[in-house]
Amino acid sequence: MAHVVILGAGTGGMPAAYEMRELLGHQHQVTLISENPYFQFVPSNPWVGVGWRERSQIVFEIEPHTRRKDIEFIAQRAEKIEPEKNTVTLANGNTVTYDYLIITTGPALAFDAVPGSGPHSGHKHGTHSICTVDHAEKAYESYLHLLDSDNPDPIIIGAMPGASCFGPAYEYAMIVLADLEKRGARKKIKEFHFITSEPYIGHLGLGGVGDSQEILTRGLTSMGVQMHTNMNTTKVDDGKMLCEHFTEKGDKDAVGSHNFGFSMMLPAFKGVDAVAKVPDLCNPKGFVIVDKHQRSPKYPNIYSAGVCIAIPPVEATPVPTGAPKTGYMIESMVTALVHNIQSEIEGKSPDAEMGTWNAICLADMGTSGAAFVALPQFKPRRVDWFGEGPWVHWSKIAFEKYFIAKMKAGVSEPFYEKLVFQMMGISRLKSNEPAHLQKVG
Ligand SMILES: Cc1cc2nc3c(=O)[nH]c(=O)nc-3n(C[C@H](O)[C@H](O)[C@H](O)COP(=O)(O)OP(=O)(O)OC[C@H]3O[C@@H](n4cnc5c(N)ncnc54)[C@H](O)[C@@H]3O)c2cc1C
Repeated sequence: MAHVVILGAGTGGMPAAYEMRELLGHQHQVTLISENPYFQFVPSNPWVGVGWRERSQIVFEIEPHTRRKDIEFIAQRAEKIEPEKNTVTLANGNTVTYDYLIITTGPALAFDAVPGSGPHSGHKHGTHSICTVDHAEKAYESYLHLLDSDNPDPIIIGAMPGASCFGPAYEYAMIVLADLEKRGARKKIKEFHFITSEPYIGHLGLGGVGDSQEILTRGLTSMGVQMHTNMNTTKVDDGKMLCEHFTEKGDKDAVGSHNFGFSMMLPAFKGVDAVAKVPDLCNPKGFVIVDKHQRSPKYPNIYSAGVCIAIPPVEATPVPTGAPKTGYMIESMVTALVHNIQSEIEGKSPDAEMGTWNAICLADMGTSGAAFVALPQFKPRRVDWFGEGPWVHWSKIAFEKYFIAKMKAGVSEPFYEKLVFQMMGISRLKSNEPAHLQKVG
């Protein structure tokens, strides 16, 4: 009997638990450990940040759903991983022993990289985040507070130095603008700034995708947004952001500050403590180093997927930026690693690799939206496409309902999703094997 433990029940961890359970016979044990008892659909957090979604619409209790699938769920934070002993120590002091560990702990939010930033800074007017549902709720409170004012201070939305997930910054800027229009409050906001570490609008940590620069610049310009690129935010004081500007060549050419009444700045990501502390498991930022089979070269019974793994930036930029890890890429890593663990349990060598590195994203913009496909993530690309239109708005809503339903039902890849992506030439696995169809006896 093998015991597979999955650490972190997010976009990567939940499908990993379901897919692992589907592949293994019931003499094998699957345990999912996560610090919160609930799953949150992270891509909907921008909507929570403008009050277009209630928490209850995008969050659900995990245990009743995993119980039905014979997956043990433990709602505890992992404090320590000891690979020599194959154990994970939890916040309540309990220890869980594993044969295989899957790390899907997502990002820790590096607010400490920019002093005074983040929702827990203690400032009356500090910078917010929409990375978690708790943060998005706090952002919404602060936004409403700004709207109460007769003469509101500027709004600043954007991304901090070292950020890698830029799509949600654009998405949030656009839906805040759409929400202001809806409320008839757009004219009240005299200044709206987009401040980003990217070298140009639409870079997205990917060196641009299709016409992303042109489309996003046009969109923000038409809404009266002042854009600032190559910005290194160095400090946040109460209602004030201190920034340095860099030239294309990487020279610092200006230092200044921007006042704000409401701000959301996506932080840089790093690895979570319990994972980052394990000797030789991670890179200096605490992201798990994996080989092409999603396996740690140092600890062969540890696999990892999602935002918590180490990938190189697509290119060097004057202010540091990282490459995004998006949902479909994460699910592909998961499919590869569960297949590999299954192989190992059967006494075979792991051979599955995720399909081509890709970035696929849908970003809502209120009534319209923007979508991109970068395949592969690194240039030259086979597919390099950025599009916009009301269909993206509706697709994003449909995707939200579909993914949440999928996670409640405990299935990971229904047929039509597979078909659509295969038509676009995108497969979760390099070899295109239907890994989830064969059980271990
Ligand atoms: C606001 C936002 C919007 C996004 N929108 C999109 C989108 O539209 N499309 C797209 O493709 N991608 C999107 N992404 C990128 C990416 O798909 C998500 O970040 C995704 O949730 C990452 O999945 P993950 O499993 O790696 O991490 P997460 O989903 O963050 O899951 C990590 C889990 O691990 C748990 N955990 C962490 N530390 C511990 C510990 N020590 N012990 C126990 N549990 C722990 C966390 O509580 C969490 O449940 C978005 C990202 C953000 C931040």
